[in-house]
Amino acid sequence: MLTQHTTRNIMPPLVVADEPQAICKEVSAMVIVMKHHASAEDIGRVVAHIQELGFQAHLSSGEERTIIGVIGDERAVEPENFAMLDGVERCMRILHPFKLASRDFHPEDTVLRINGVTIGGKTLVVIAGPCSIESREQLMESAHAVQEAGANLLRAGAYKPRTSPYAFQGLGIKGLELLRQAKEEYGLPTVTEVMSPADVPLVAEYADVLQIGARNMQNYALLNAVGETQTPVLLKRGLSSTIEELIMAAEYILSHGNHRVMLCERGIRTFETATRNTFDINAIPVLKHLTHLPVIADPSHGTGKWDLVTPVARGAVAAGADGLIVEVHPNPAKALSDGGQSLKPEKFVEMMKQVRVIANAVGRDM
Ligand code: PEP
Ligand code: MN
Repeated sequence: MLTQHTTRNIMPPLVVADEPQAICKEVSAMVIVMKHHASAEDIGRVVAHIQELGFQAHLSSGEERTIIGVIGDERAVEPENFAMLDGVERCMRILHPFKLASRDFHPEDTVLRINGVTIGGKTLVVIAGPCSIESREQLMESAHAVQEAGANLLRAGAYKPRTSPYAFQGLGIKGLELLRQAKEEYGLPTVTEVMSPADVPLVAEYADVLQIGARNMQNYALLNAVGETQTPVLLKRGLSSTIEELIMAAEYILSHGNHRVMLCERGIRTFETATRNTFDINAIPVLKHLTHLPVIADPSHGTGKWDLVTPVARGAVAAGADGLIVEVHPNPAKALSDGGQSLKPEKFVEMMKQVRVIANAVGRDM
């Protein structure tokens, strides 16, 4: 298998393993850094050699040079098999259990382009909208409000993963139809959750970004199904998942060929009961350090309280988040889901104003 990534240039230094015995034997991986002037023929020969040995090659072509990721299965990938080939500068093992998501393989930030919106670059991105699509009026009013306030993408759920089977489960395909109409009317790309592998082609037809909800972060059949599309994926951290488990879930999507993945910190379960979840601000710089994928912060689910959304959004942006996903509802008191954590449109306008100050202070455009 050969996959292609594109990077702008290459950042040193890469993490190097000096002790081969520290490597996970099950999945062995390595990066081959090609020389600055390596020719297309050199790269082709290295890829052919990787494939002849029965390994997978993943190409990451930057402006400066090319990095080739080598992934083996039972058999260990040995750097000495490749170090002597023309055009190869150095070979290094990847120590983390995640490979394609690792900065070792892809040192530069991944920048996603979604219908004219850039995620993971210098500009902070804001995804906003209601938790659920409830009616045409409610969705259009929400879309109008968030677009006017400067949001870049519209979020809204048609398939809702509710804790109670008796709670509102979403409008399903009727909701997707409304979402498409809101996109046409307000010109915002859309994000919506997909809950089952069988629904992936349908939801991908209607939405620009497929959301994998916290409750499905380790639904591997679903991860594989979205991995087989080329539709961007917003992967939310599981309620009780570690950062490594989140990155391993992203690895499923990447290894199935979809490299358009962003990670979302949305709060985790702790002993604390003052808030719905505990927003793990540490996760933002940790994820930015370990992976090249864009990191989105969700202060709505992260706190569960509308009056905490703006301060936590400010903190997340200061900590280096590439974007925010925020719930906004025209009438939170009447919302069919997550009303207590939804901002009224005027509060969202205020949040945008405050977040812009922080974004600019940390060198981001907004
Ligand atoms: C949501 O975005 O409305 C949602 C259900 O989020 P999470 O999966 O993070 O709970
Ligand atoms: Mn919600």
